[in-house]
Amino acid sequence: MSWLTNYVRPKIRALVSKSDVPDNLWTKCNNCGQMIFHRDLAAGNKVCPNCDHHMRLTAEERLKLLFDGESYELLELAETVQDPLRFRDQQRYTERLKKARSSTGLDDAIQVAVGEIGGQSAVVAAFDFRFMGGSMGVAVGEGFLTGARAAVERNAAFIAIPASGGARMQEGILSLMQMPRTVIAVEMVKDAGLPYVVILTDPTTGGVTASFAMLGDVTLAEPGAVIGFAGSRVIEETIRETLPDGFQRAEYLHEHGMVDMVVPRKALRGTLSRLLDLLMVPLAPKTADKPPPEAPAETAEAEASETPDDAAEPAPESAEETAPETSPEPEESQRAAQ
Ligand SMILES: [Zn+2]
Repeated sequence: MSWLTNYVRPKIRALVSKSDVPDNLWTKCNNCGQMIFHRDLAAGNKVCPNCDHHMRLTAEERLKLLFDGESYELLELAETVQDPLRFRDQQRYTERLKKARSSTGLDDAIQVAVGEIGGQSAVVAAFDFRFMGGSMGVAVGEGFLTGARAAVERNAAFIAIPASGGARMQEGILSLMQMPRTVIAVEMVKDAGLPYVVILTDPTTGGVTASFAMLGDVTLAEPGAVIGFAGSRVIEETIRETLPDGFQRAEYLHEHGMVDMVVPRKALRGTLSRLLDLLMVPLAPKTADKPPPEAPAETAEAEASETPDDAAEPAPESAEETAPETSPEPEESQRAAQ
């Protein structure tokens, strides 16, 4: 038997090389079960043509989808401490990291890029769910902070695209510390009067939901995306009640005021560039290093609260004080509502 398996089989394999029999021409939609030709799938940005199910994208696909002409520059992210707790469950954490790195080609679960969206400069921090479920550890927190700093430096909008199961348990308390860390990063962007937009994708859960993902000036979501803190089964078991249909889905959150817009993937770039046009104020002719911080914050606020009379007024100096204070308020009430 060993002669057959060790000698004959490899020879036959070599004759029928893999390139002759591509096995990835078809992808099965995991919602409706339809087989989709790979070219159709790529052309439709991984949206099922049959049932409109939005499949998960990699960070690279995300960035290509959003930036003008698919052109962007990846920011180098600082190296962070590896396996600080020497964590081990069934496997060593270092082993898991090694596997995730070789299968994704990424250093960790986040990629940060700069470029233009609809002609406006923007920094995008995109999660990659393939890398340990997009979980947020020190490296992801560091990447997020790098993105926020780059946005402030370049006077660019900051766009976060979470796709995450939450905090990375292998990093224990250090992963939980990334929650306040990312919140501070968001505050930095808001203090600079720059727009911070979140695009919630499937899935956005746990510590990511409980931090930067719910703090957007404008919150968009992809259709059907699961967005929540605890999983629905855990909630059901805890409160011993049946949850309503579509609970924790983007559309449900939209109906309940947690999401501003549910945007189909094909309209995402257009919507985002329109938003940035509204939120980004062109540089003042004073040739100042930074534009007046009150102006973008004011328009951002007007967008959210729909009070056009505020936006029409030329920004008074007092707006600078009121803008950062009023913006977190709706978020707090939202969290309380949840
Ligand atoms: Zn489908």
